[in-house]
Amino acid sequence: MASSEHVDLEGFMTGVERRNPGQSEFIQAVREVAEDIFGFCEGKPEYHEYQILRRIAEPDRVVSFRVCWQDDAGNIRVQRGWRVQNNNSIGPYKGGLRFHPSVNESILKFLAFEQTFKNSLTGLPMGGGKGGSNFNPKGKSVNEIMRFCQSFMTELYRHIGADVDVPAGDIGVGAREIGFMFGQYKRITGEFTGVLTGKGLEYGGSLVRTEATGYGAVCFTQQMLKTRGMSMDGKTVVISGSGNVATHAAEMAVKLGGKVVTFSDSEGFIHDPAGIDQERIDWVKAHKTKRRGRISEYAKEFKSATFHDDGARPWGVPCDVALPCATQNELNGEDAKTLVKHGVIAVAEGANMPTDLNGVHVFKTARILYAPGKAANAGGVAVSGLEMSQNSLRISWTQEELTRRLFDIMEGIHNRCLEYGAEADGHIDYVRGANIAGFKKVADAMLAYGVV
Ligand code: NDP
Repeated sequence: MASSEHVDLEGFMTGVERRNPGQSEFIQAVREVAEDIFGFCEGKPEYHEYQILRRIAEPDRVVSFRVCWQDDAGNIRVQRGWRVQNNNSIGPYKGGLRFHPSVNESILKFLAFEQTFKNSLTGLPMGGGKGGSNFNPKGKSVNEIMRFCQSFMTELYRHIGADVDVPAGDIGVGAREIGFMFGQYKRITGEFTGVLTGKGLEYGGSLVRTEATGYGAVCFTQQMLKTRGMSMDGKTVVISGSGNVATHAAEMAVKLGGKVVTFSDSEGFIHDPAGIDQERIDWVKAHKTKRRGRISEYAKEFKSATFHDDGARPWGVPCDVALPCATQNELNGEDAKTLVKHGVIAVAEGANMPTDLNGVHVFKTARILYAPGKAANAGGVAVSGLEMSQNSLRISWTQEELTRRLFDIMEGIHNRCLEYGAEADGHIDYVRGANIAGFKKVADAMLAYGVV
């Protein structure tokens, strides 16, 4: 990197840090993108002149609101809700809602910023947004969840709309919560529109949406392996998380002949050297979603497995493919070095920003196949985009049609990464490829609009 460019990047980041004090996740996400965009913008004065990256790194708006609800014991509880509308240059704001006690403005701003590039990469007309609450759904009754969702939507409804902003699920928000929120939106407005995605099939949802993020991430991994003449077949796969993304990634990895050996949650990870087959994946799905159980119980059910407690993460287990599918910053520089030492071939992020900046630099330096979340996990929002299309057309596509479209979109994203990430020696920098391809479409639309 030339030194003048370095000064520009650091000057830019100093401004981002000054304007967003204490928002470490947001600053981290902006830096990861800016490291690639500054190089790309050299010799393209229009992007500088129109301050494009500076404008994308400033959300269009951040709405925060109070959410009051009553628990089963009759106590009044007060939570905070947010919707971050980052950028709608190429389509309505689109991005999930997260309910988790760790949620704060910095995390939602980073997610909405990332979402802007991810949605652009899919090739579909969707802008970037994200929202959620610091509400903790764990241990709550179904009635408490319903009352919270209704109260949350009673404020959120005025900021969203099928052509304005279309939220979906994320951590802590699945089909049940989307159902409660869609019901409340319909009750308040009297309208049945495609204002949320991830809906039930009976009321406008799309087939393949539930599976899309995990399936898409493994489809992307298969594309990466293909560039080196390899495939998932026979590969040992380490997965973190045990929610929607993790279990569906495991399912597709097993379908393609991979041997999945780990799952995790916030308490620790299980290692099953015998391999987690479809029957065991089905057990995890039922255990985590229907029974709301902990992953530690897997080791009691299946004697070939061990549980590693105290929040331990699975990155020390030797593998060919690693799929971080739990949460942000769950894989640091030391973890990345361990994976590389054990000969990892490919890392694809099912979660958003699971690898911290040190980890990203370790993977880039080791020149392994490394796909950032904005490329690898875009399958979920892609099928959400297809759910929006089906709602507008008032039709439902078949499983086969949607699976084909999902895989075509993932291939399209892979090709866009190649366009800007392929290097002279054949190595592919997927981080750079995804950042630049995602940026360019949004940037060119912003140039067309002038200063707005
Ligand atoms: P789920 O709520 O279904 O599952 C989340 C999993 O991650 C759970 O196993 C959870 O464990 C674990 N987890 C959450 N927080 C932590 C933490 N702080 N430390 C360790 N483990 C944690 O969420 P999803 O599977 O839907 O989402 C997972 C990731 O994928 C997120 O980063 C999300 O933003 C991203 N993503 C999701 C998409 C989707 O379609 N669902 C689309 C694109 C990205 P526990 O039960 O202990 O909390």
